[in-house]
Amino acid sequence: AHEVMINSEKLSVAGQLAAGIAHEIRNPITAIKGFLQLMESGKSYKQEFFSVISAEINRIEIILSELLALAKPQLDKYCKKDIKGILQHVVALTKSQAILHDVHIQTSFSKDSLEVLCDENKLKQVFINFIKNAIEAMSYTDGGMILVKSEKVGDQSVIIRIIDQGPGIPEDILKKIGEPFFTTKENGTGLGVMVSFEIVKQHDGEVQINSDSNGTTISITLPLSSSLSS
Ligand code: ADP
Ligand code: MG
Repeated sequence: AHEVMINSEKLSVAGQLAAGIAHEIRNPITAIKGFLQLMESGKSYKQEFFSVISAEINRIEIILSELLALAKPQLDKYCKKDIKGILQHVVALTKSQAILHDVHIQTSFSKDSLEVLCDENKLKQVFINFIKNAIEAMSYTDGGMILVKSEKVGDQSVIIRIIDQGPGIPEDILKKIGEPFFTTKENGTGLGVMVSFEIVKQHDGEVQINSDSNGTTISITLPLSSSLSS
């Protein structure tokens, strides 16, 4: 099994990120401009141009909304929340996509109180990103099961695991995961993991990815609010 620990070196260098953003946004803009010029010139005018333009604008919107999650954490948004409630909400949110891919999401939460000091919306984004990746991975294996678990480790932290039965991640790809815009998907943005690493880091947590040919396990460790001195 391959394993990778995420540390700050892996996180985006500002310049690399800026160049990536410019590139990723220029492509759809160039396409939109091209179609508009074509229609304006009167050379060609097809109804379907509008759906191309619309799809390209959607892509820019998706990229920008993912990048917005990178914004500096606002301390006033941090609240004590039980991680189980957050996970239940996220599982409900991703349910329709799971069903669409013949994926069943099972949950297993320990009974302990698992309160973390967090920006709830940002943490939700992290779990959504990883669960979506798990669902997408399993579209190659015609469905299966995803297990979402949470448990207390010692009395300092909580560990959340998202375990899928997808094809796993080859070692050369595992090394690149979390680099801005790295994707193996036709319509991927390659931003989900990078943004998630950053958010977890903002919460003083850690992400670990374990993968072999039976599937992938994402483990997210976060400090319990009771462990923080105030
Ligand atoms: P995107 O989902 O847009 O491709 P991500 O940053 O979320 O971008 O993921 C980057 C890449 O990591 C994916 O394209 C995929 O190759 C790989 N990956 C992430 N999670 C998994 C998983 N659970 N199983 C297999 N591959 C994965
Ligand atoms: Mg993704």
